[in-house]
Amino acid sequence: KLYNEVQDLKGNIRVYCRIRPFLPGQSQKETTIEYIGENGDLVIANPSKQGKDSRRLFKFNKVFGPAATQADVFLDTQPLIRSVLDGYNVCIFAYGQTGSGKTYTMSGPSVSSTDDWGINYRALNDLFQISQSRKSSIAYEVGVQMPNGLAVPEASMHPVNSTADVLKLMNIGLMNRAVGATALNERSSRSHSVLTVHVRGVDLKSDTSLRGSLHLVDLAGSERVDRSEATGDRLREAQHINKSLSALGDVIFALAQKSSHVPYRNSKLTQVLQSSLGGQAKTLMFVQLNPDVESFAQTISTLKFAERVS
Ligand code: ADP
Ligand code: MG
Repeated sequence: KLYNEVQDLKGNIRVYCRIRPFLPGQSQKETTIEYIGENGDLVIANPSKQGKDSRRLFKFNKVFGPAATQADVFLDTQPLIRSVLDGYNVCIFAYGQTGSGKTYTMSGPSVSSTDDWGINYRALNDLFQISQSRKSSIAYEVGVQMPNGLAVPEASMHPVNSTADVLKLMNIGLMNRAVGATALNERSSRSHSVLTVHVRGVDLKSDTSLRGSLHLVDLAGSERVDRSEATGDRLREAQHINKSLSALGDVIFALAQKSSHVPYRNSKLTQVLQSSLGGQAKTLMFVQLNPDVESFAQTISTLKFAERVS
């Protein structure tokens, strides 16, 4: 009961937590994850403390443990994604430290392993399937934008008719950047990556049209960069990322509070996404965690961000 009320208050903002498994070679490590509840409860244990004080409870709309598959995660995301075809604007974010599985959740480990496809390919596949099944009553047009960084308005819109079209586009995008996987990874931890899907549907009977959009945002790594370790451009870049992530947190917090002032203008990221955050728009944040004790400090910092927006 209380849970429902909380959810109603929050309106169109949902927060899911996903904990990645230990990676091969990491299996002997100790974990900070003490308990994962079906109801969205997560208990984290502090390795350096004893007793009751060592544990903290966090609440989410849903927690996906290390054994959750890509299909499990998509199943709980699908209704939100399908609402795009009814004219809603939807934003899905992945937030967390570098290596916590943001890209895995949003895109998957590689394009070729279809079983492990992340949300982006599954979402497009689903949108194409549903739009096909409705084609006798509604004519849908789908277009995607894959800007480099946040230059969304300048990025060209590509009409697409199938997931194969999208894959082709994405491969071209990757090749255009002409960088290897390592460089790409390194770069992805330092910049936000946004995939935008625009949908226009024309109702063939009434000749009315609707528009919906889906923004899939793989955020830059949330780790706080130590001043002693970074200098010059690298430090400024890190501060810039931290600033844009807190600006995003501030916007979602204001929306969750139903505040009359929402500070969209404080970062490029929130400016670009302004029309897709708030109002009738729906927002889902994946909060990604590493399971190991070495990540404890980053895990707590990530959870504090999540606590504020949920
Ligand atoms: P991030 O984008 O947050 O930096 P990645 O998505 O690149 O993190 O994940 C880091 C590593 O962990 C990658 O090798 C990825 O394939 C692996 N990984 C992440 N999440 C999972 C998962 N749920 N199951 C299996 N491997 C995962
Ligand atoms: Mg990544």
